[in-house]
Amino acid sequence: MKTLHNAHHALHQGREEMFRGRMVPCHEVPARLDFVLTELQRRPLGALEAPALDDAELDAAIARVHSARYTAFLAGAWDEWVAMDPANALRDALPSVWPLGNRHAFRTDVLPQNFAARLGLFSFDSGSPLMAGTWAAARGGAACALAAVREVLGGARSAFALTRPPGHHAGPDFFGGYCFLNNAAIAAQALRDGGKQRVAVLDVDYHHGNGTQTIFYERADVLTVSIHGDPATEYPFFLGHADERGAGAGEGFNLNLPLPRGTNFTTWRAALGQALDAMAAFNADALVVPMGLDTFEGDPISGFTLRSNDYFAVGEALAGAGLPTVFTFEGGYAVDAVGTNAVNLLEGFERAA
Ligand SMILES: [Zn+2]
Repeated sequence: MKTLHNAHHALHQGREEMFRGRMVPCHEVPARLDFVLTELQRRPLGALEAPALDDAELDAAIARVHSARYTAFLAGAWDEWVAMDPANALRDALPSVWPLGNRHAFRTDVLPQNFAARLGLFSFDSGSPLMAGTWAAARGGAACALAAVREVLGGARSAFALTRPPGHHAGPDFFGGYCFLNNAAIAAQALRDGGKQRVAVLDVDYHHGNGTQTIFYERADVLTVSIHGDPATEYPFFLGHADERGAGAGEGFNLNLPLPRGTNFTTWRAALGQALDAMAAFNADALVVPMGLDTFEGDPISGFTLRSNDYFAVGEALAGAGLPTVFTFEGGYAVDAVGTNAVNLLEGFERAA
Protein backbone atom coordinates (compact mmCIF):
# COMPACT_ATOMS: atom_id res chain seq x y z
CA MET A 1 0.00 0.00 0.00
CA LYS A 2 1.44 3.33 -1.07
CA THR A 3 1.30 6.25 1.36
CA LEU A 4 0.75 9.69 -0.13
CA HIS A 5 2.33 12.10 2.28
CA ASN A 6 1.30 15.72 2.74
CA ALA A 7 4.62 17.55 2.94
CA HIS A 8 2.82 20.87 3.57
CA HIS A 9 0.88 19.73 6.63
CA ALA A 10 3.11 21.39 9.25
CA LEU A 11 2.29 24.82 7.79
CA HIS A 12 -1.01 24.35 9.60
CA GLN A 13 -0.18 24.56 13.29
CA GLY A 14 -2.83 26.19 15.43
CA ARG A 15 -1.85 27.94 18.63
CA GLU A 16 -5.08 27.58 20.62
CA GLU A 17 -8.71 26.57 20.17
CA MET A 18 -11.78 27.78 22.03
CA PHE A 19 -13.20 25.12 24.34
CA ARG A 20 -16.17 26.03 26.56
CA GLY A 21 -15.16 29.55 27.31
CA ARG A 22 -11.42 29.17 27.51
CA MET A 23 -8.56 28.99 25.10
CA VAL A 24 -6.77 25.62 25.25
CA PRO A 25 -3.80 24.23 23.27
CA CYS A 26 -4.85 22.68 19.94
CA HIS A 27 -5.42 18.93 19.92
CA GLU A 28 -4.86 18.65 16.18
CA VAL A 29 -1.07 19.08 16.01
CA PRO A 30 1.64 18.29 13.41
CA ALA A 31 3.19 15.69 15.76
CA ARG A 32 0.19 13.42 15.02
CA LEU A 33 1.39 12.91 11.50
CA ASP A 34 5.02 12.58 12.57
CA PHE A 35 4.09 9.64 14.82
CA VAL A 36 2.43 7.90 11.87
CA LEU A 37 5.50 8.51 9.69
CA THR A 38 7.79 7.12 12.40
CA GLU A 39 5.67 3.99 12.72
CA LEU A 40 5.58 3.60 8.93
CA GLN A 41 9.39 3.69 8.93
CA ARG A 42 9.43 0.95 11.56
CA ARG A 43 6.76 -1.16 9.80
CA PRO A 44 6.75 -0.13 6.14
CA LEU A 45 3.59 -0.79 4.13
CA GLY A 46 4.96 0.41 0.81
CA ALA A 47 6.41 3.48 -0.87
CA LEU A 48 6.01 6.90 0.71
CA GLU A 49 5.44 9.68 -1.81
CA ALA A 50 4.62 13.37 -1.75
CA PRO A 51 2.25 13.91 -4.68
CA ALA A 52 3.30 16.41 -7.31
CA LEU A 53 0.80 19.26 -7.31
CA ASP A 54 -0.88 19.86 -10.64
CA ASP A 55 -2.73 23.02 -9.69
CA ALA A 56 -5.39 22.95 -12.39
CA GLU A 57 -6.28 19.31 -11.80
CA LEU A 58 -6.32 19.74 -8.06
CA ASP A 59 -8.48 22.86 -8.20
CA ALA A 60 -10.93 21.06 -10.49
CA ALA A 61 -11.20 18.12 -8.07
CA ILE A 62 -11.73 20.43 -5.09
CA ALA A 63 -14.37 22.36 -7.04
CA ARG A 64 -16.36 19.14 -7.55
CA VAL A 65 -17.01 19.09 -3.80
CA HIS A 66 -16.60 22.63 -2.43
CA SER A 67 -18.31 25.84 -3.55
CA ALA A 68 -16.34 28.51 -5.42
CA ARG A 69 -17.14 31.19 -2.86
CA TYR A 70 -15.89 28.97 -0.06
CA THR A 71 -12.55 28.09 -1.67
CA ALA A 72 -12.05 31.73 -2.67
CA PHE A 73 -12.63 32.63 0.98
CA LEU A 74 -10.11 30.03 2.20
CA ALA A 75 -7.48 31.06 -0.34
CA GLY A 76 -7.56 34.71 0.76
CA ALA A 77 -8.55 34.29 4.41
CA TRP A 78 -5.18 34.84 6.04
CA ASP A 79 -4.38 38.01 4.10
CA GLU A 80 -7.80 39.42 4.94
CA TRP A 81 -7.40 38.52 8.60
CA VAL A 82 -4.11 40.42 8.78
CA ALA A 83 -5.55 43.30 6.75
CA MET A 84 -8.24 43.76 9.44
CA ASP A 85 -5.51 44.49 11.97
CA PRO A 86 -1.74 44.05 11.46
CA ALA A 87 -1.52 42.66 15.02
CA ASN A 88 -3.58 39.69 13.78
CA ALA A 89 -0.39 38.35 12.18
CA LEU A 90 0.51 37.12 15.66
CA ARG A 91 -2.76 35.29 16.33
CA ASP A 92 -4.83 32.69 14.50
CA ALA A 93 -8.18 33.53 12.96
CA LEU A 94 -11.15 32.16 14.92
CA PRO A 95 -14.79 32.97 14.23
CA SER A 96 -16.97 34.59 16.88
CA VAL A 97 -20.29 35.14 15.10
CA TRP A 98 -22.43 32.75 13.05
CA PRO A 99 -25.64 32.87 11.03
CA LEU A 100 -28.15 30.31 12.29
CA GLY A 101 -29.19 27.78 9.70
CA ASN A 102 -32.90 28.47 10.08
CA ARG A 103 -34.23 29.90 6.86
CA HIS A 104 -35.77 33.07 8.27
CA ALA A 105 -33.24 33.77 11.03
CA PHE A 106 -30.27 35.12 9.06
CA ARG A 107 -29.28 35.46 5.40
CA THR A 108 -26.48 33.26 4.14
CA ASP A 109 -26.91 34.11 0.45
CA VAL A 110 -25.44 37.62 0.78
CA LEU A 111 -21.66 37.58 1.14
CA PRO A 112 -20.69 40.04 3.92
CA GLN A 113 -17.83 42.45 3.21
CA ASN A 114 -16.68 42.20 6.81
CA PHE A 115 -14.11 39.42 7.09
CA ALA A 116 -15.11 38.44 10.66
CA ALA A 117 -18.63 37.89 9.34
CA ARG A 118 -17.40 35.75 6.47
CA LEU A 119 -15.26 33.75 8.89
CA GLY A 120 -18.50 32.90 10.69
CA LEU A 121 -20.51 32.35 7.50
CA PHE A 122 -18.08 29.65 6.34
CA SER A 123 -17.60 27.81 9.67
CA PHE A 124 -19.53 26.09 12.43
CA ASP A 125 -17.27 26.22 15.49
CA SER A 126 -14.50 28.20 17.18
CA GLY A 127 -12.24 25.20 17.65
CA SER A 128 -10.66 25.31 14.21
CA PRO A 129 -8.02 28.04 14.02
CA LEU A 130 -7.06 29.27 10.58
CA MET A 131 -3.53 30.53 10.01
CA ALA A 132 -1.08 31.59 7.30
CA GLY A 133 -0.37 28.03 6.15
CA THR A 134 -3.86 26.56 6.44
CA TRP A 135 -4.80 26.83 2.79
CA ALA A 136 -1.48 25.36 1.55
CA ALA A 137 -1.70 22.51 4.07
CA ALA A 138 -5.33 21.74 3.23
CA ARG A 139 -4.59 21.79 -0.50
CA GLY A 140 -1.58 19.54 0.09
CA GLY A 141 -3.90 17.10 1.85
CA ALA A 142 -6.43 17.16 -0.97
CA ALA A 143 -3.58 16.49 -3.40
CA CYS A 144 -2.75 13.34 -1.41
CA ALA A 145 -6.36 12.19 -1.53
CA LEU A 146 -6.40 12.74 -5.28
CA ALA A 147 -3.08 10.91 -5.78
CA ALA A 148 -4.38 8.01 -3.67
CA VAL A 149 -7.39 7.80 -5.97
CA ARG A 150 -5.08 7.74 -8.98
CA GLU A 151 -3.24 4.78 -7.44
CA VAL A 152 -6.45 2.84 -6.97
CA LEU A 153 -7.83 3.74 -10.41
CA GLY A 154 -4.50 2.53 -11.78
CA GLY A 155 -5.11 -0.91 -10.30
CA ALA A 156 -3.69 -0.75 -6.76
CA ARG A 157 -5.83 -2.50 -4.17
CA SER A 158 -5.45 0.37 -1.71
CA ALA A 159 -3.68 3.64 -0.96
CA PHE A 160 -3.31 5.80 2.13
CA ALA A 161 -3.59 9.60 2.04
CA LEU A 162 -1.62 10.71 5.09
CA THR A 163 -3.11 14.15 5.45
CA ARG A 164 -3.68 16.89 7.94
CA PRO A 165 -5.61 18.96 8.67
CA PRO A 166 -8.29 16.24 8.62
CA GLY A 167 -11.33 16.61 6.38
CA HIS A 168 -14.52 14.77 7.24
CA HIS A 169 -16.24 17.62 9.12
CA ALA A 170 -15.78 20.08 6.24
CA GLY A 171 -18.89 20.57 4.10
CA PRO A 172 -19.49 22.06 0.66
CA ASP A 173 -19.04 25.59 2.04
CA PHE A 174 -17.94 25.38 5.64
CA PHE A 175 -15.04 24.40 7.87
CA GLY A 176 -15.08 23.15 11.45
CA GLY A 177 -13.94 20.27 13.61
CA TYR A 178 -10.30 21.02 12.59
CA CYS A 179 -11.29 20.30 8.92
CA PHE A 180 -11.11 22.65 5.91
CA LEU A 181 -11.25 20.53 2.74
CA ASN A 182 -13.08 17.21 2.82
CA ASN A 183 -10.39 14.82 1.57
CA ALA A 184 -12.64 11.75 1.79
CA ALA A 185 -15.38 13.45 -0.24
CA ILE A 186 -12.85 14.70 -2.78
CA ALA A 187 -11.58 11.11 -3.08
CA ALA A 188 -15.08 9.64 -3.42
CA GLN A 189 -16.01 12.16 -6.12
CA ALA A 190 -12.73 11.57 -7.96
CA LEU A 191 -13.41 7.81 -7.92
CA ARG A 192 -16.83 8.50 -9.46
CA ASP A 193 -15.31 10.81 -12.05
CA GLY A 194 -12.66 8.17 -12.76
CA GLY A 195 -15.30 5.62 -13.73
CA LYS A 196 -16.37 3.91 -10.50
CA GLN A 197 -20.15 3.70 -10.55
CA ARG A 198 -21.00 3.22 -6.90
CA VAL A 199 -18.68 4.49 -4.21
CA ALA A 200 -19.09 3.84 -0.48
CA VAL A 201 -17.64 6.06 2.24
CA LEU A 202 -17.32 4.26 5.56
CA ASP A 203 -16.33 6.70 8.29
CA VAL A 204 -14.76 5.03 11.34
CA ASP A 205 -13.74 8.21 13.18
CA TYR A 206 -15.20 8.70 16.67
CA HIS A 207 -17.07 11.77 15.44
CA HIS A 208 -19.86 11.79 12.89
CA GLY A 209 -18.67 12.62 9.37
CA ASN A 210 -21.14 15.46 9.04
CA GLY A 211 -19.38 17.19 6.14
CA THR A 212 -19.30 14.06 4.01
CA GLN A 213 -22.93 13.27 4.80
CA THR A 214 -24.00 16.79 3.79
CA ILE A 215 -22.02 16.70 0.54
CA PHE A 216 -23.61 13.44 -0.69
CA TYR A 217 -26.97 13.56 1.12
CA GLU A 218 -29.13 13.79 -1.99
CA ARG A 219 -27.16 11.35 -4.13
CA ALA A 220 -27.69 7.67 -4.82
CA ASP A 221 -24.26 7.02 -6.37
CA VAL A 222 -22.30 7.57 -3.13
CA LEU A 223 -23.33 5.64 -0.02
CA THR A 224 -22.24 7.41 3.17
CA VAL A 225 -21.97 5.35 6.36
CA SER A 226 -20.67 6.60 9.70
CA ILE A 227 -20.09 4.81 13.02
CA HIS A 228 -19.69 7.41 15.75
CA GLY A 229 -20.42 8.73 19.22
CA ASP A 230 -24.12 9.56 19.63
CA PRO A 231 -24.57 13.24 18.66
CA ALA A 232 -27.01 13.63 21.56
CA THR A 233 -23.91 13.94 23.73
CA GLU A 234 -20.95 13.97 21.32
CA TYR A 235 -19.48 16.47 18.85
CA PRO A 236 -20.59 17.60 16.22
CA PHE A 237 -23.97 17.42 18.04
CA PHE A 238 -26.25 18.74 15.30
CA LEU A 239 -26.04 15.88 12.79
CA GLY A 240 -25.39 12.14 12.86
CA HIS A 241 -28.67 10.69 14.17
CA ALA A 242 -29.96 7.32 13.01
CA ASP A 243 -33.04 8.80 11.33
CA GLU A 244 -30.95 10.72 8.77
CA ARG A 245 -31.33 8.38 5.81
CA GLY A 246 -30.66 10.67 2.85
CA ALA A 247 -33.07 12.84 0.87
CA GLY A 248 -34.51 13.00 -2.64
CA ALA A 249 -32.60 10.68 -4.96
CA GLY A 250 -30.29 9.98 -2.01
CA GLU A 251 -33.08 8.61 0.20
CA GLY A 252 -31.78 5.38 1.72
CA PHE A 253 -28.14 6.09 0.82
CA ASN A 254 -26.98 7.48 4.15
CA LEU A 255 -26.57 5.25 7.20
CA ASN A 256 -25.69 6.56 10.65
CA LEU A 257 -24.75 4.14 13.40
CA PRO A 258 -24.49 6.25 16.57
CA LEU A 259 -23.20 4.48 19.68
CA PRO A 260 -23.19 5.64 23.30
CA ARG A 261 -20.10 7.03 24.97
CA GLY A 262 -18.24 4.15 26.63
CA THR A 263 -18.88 1.67 23.79
CA ASN A 264 -16.35 -1.18 23.72
CA PHE A 265 -14.85 -3.00 20.74
CA THR A 266 -17.35 -5.90 20.74
CA THR A 267 -20.28 -3.52 20.30
CA TRP A 268 -18.35 -1.29 17.91
CA ARG A 269 -17.38 -4.31 15.78
CA ALA A 270 -21.04 -5.35 15.51
CA ALA A 271 -21.85 -1.89 14.13
CA LEU A 272 -19.02 -2.28 11.63
CA GLY A 273 -20.68 -5.54 10.55
CA GLN A 274 -23.91 -3.61 9.90
CA ALA A 275 -21.97 -1.01 7.93
CA LEU A 276 -20.30 -3.68 5.80
CA ASP A 277 -23.66 -5.37 5.15
CA ALA A 278 -25.10 -2.05 3.95
CA MET A 279 -22.09 -1.60 1.67
CA ALA A 280 -22.51 -5.07 0.23
CA ALA A 281 -26.23 -4.46 -0.40
CA PHE A 282 -25.30 -1.21 -2.16
CA ASN A 283 -22.95 -3.19 -4.38
CA ALA A 284 -20.17 -0.62 -4.10
CA ASP A 285 -17.26 -0.87 -6.53
CA ALA A 286 -14.89 1.33 -4.53
CA LEU A 287 -14.47 2.33 -0.89
CA VAL A 288 -13.20 5.41 0.90
CA VAL A 289 -12.40 5.09 4.61
CA PRO A 290 -12.07 8.33 6.58
CA MET A 291 -9.73 6.75 9.10
CA GLY A 292 -10.04 8.34 12.53
CA LEU A 293 -8.20 6.69 15.41
CA ASP A 294 -10.01 8.65 18.12
CA THR A 295 -12.10 5.57 18.96
CA PHE A 296 -9.00 4.60 21.00
CA GLU A 297 -9.47 4.16 24.76
CA GLY A 298 -6.78 6.74 25.50
CA ASP A 299 -8.16 9.51 23.31
CA PRO A 300 -8.41 12.76 25.30
CA ILE A 301 -11.52 14.14 23.54
CA SER A 302 -13.51 10.99 22.73
CA GLY A 303 -15.34 8.21 24.58
CA PHE A 304 -15.00 4.71 23.06
CA THR A 305 -12.65 2.05 24.45
CA LEU A 306 -10.94 0.40 21.46
CA ARG A 307 -7.43 -0.89 22.19
CA SER A 308 -4.41 -0.78 19.93
CA ASN A 309 -4.68 -4.47 18.99
CA ASP A 310 -8.34 -4.03 17.96
CA TYR A 311 -7.27 -1.94 14.98
CA PHE A 312 -5.77 -5.00 13.26
CA ALA A 313 -9.26 -6.53 13.30
CA VAL A 314 -10.80 -3.31 11.96
CA GLY A 315 -8.40 -3.39 9.01
CA GLU A 316 -9.07 -7.07 8.36
CA ALA A 317 -12.84 -6.51 8.38
CA LEU A 318 -12.52 -3.59 5.95
CA ALA A 319 -10.38 -5.70 3.62
CA GLY A 320 -13.13 -8.35 3.69
CA ALA A 321 -15.29 -6.03 1.58
CA GLY A 322 -12.92 -6.86 -1.29
CA LEU A 323 -12.98 -3.34 -2.73
CA PRO A 324 -10.34 -0.93 -4.06
CA THR A 325 -9.89 1.26 -1.00
CA VAL A 326 -8.62 4.77 -0.29
CA PHE A 327 -7.84 5.68 3.31
CA THR A 328 -7.77 9.31 4.43
CA PHE A 329 -6.23 10.23 7.78
CA GLU A 330 -8.79 11.90 10.08
CA GLY A 331 -8.90 12.24 13.89
CA GLY A 332 -6.93 10.61 16.69
CA TYR A 333 -5.61 12.81 19.50
CA ALA A 334 -3.80 10.37 21.77
CA VAL A 335 -0.81 11.63 19.85
CA ASP A 336 1.83 9.11 20.92
CA ALA A 337 -0.49 6.16 20.12
CA VAL A 338 -1.91 7.42 16.83
CA GLY A 339 0.99 6.03 14.76
CA THR A 340 0.69 2.54 16.23
CA ASN A 341 -3.09 2.50 15.88
CA ALA A 342 -3.06 3.81 12.29
CA VAL A 343 -0.44 1.33 11.11
CA ASN A 344 -2.14 -1.52 12.97
CA LEU A 345 -5.33 -0.83 11.03
CA LEU A 346 -3.55 -0.57 7.69
CA GLU A 347 -1.40 -3.64 8.39
CA GLY A 348 -4.54 -5.61 9.31
CA PHE A 349 -6.02 -4.54 5.98
CA GLU A 350 -2.89 -5.53 4.05
CA ARG A 351 -2.71 -8.94 5.67
CA ALA A 352 -6.30 -9.78 4.77
CA ALA A 353 -6.41 -8.05 1.37
ZN1 LIG B 1 -12.82 12.62 15.33
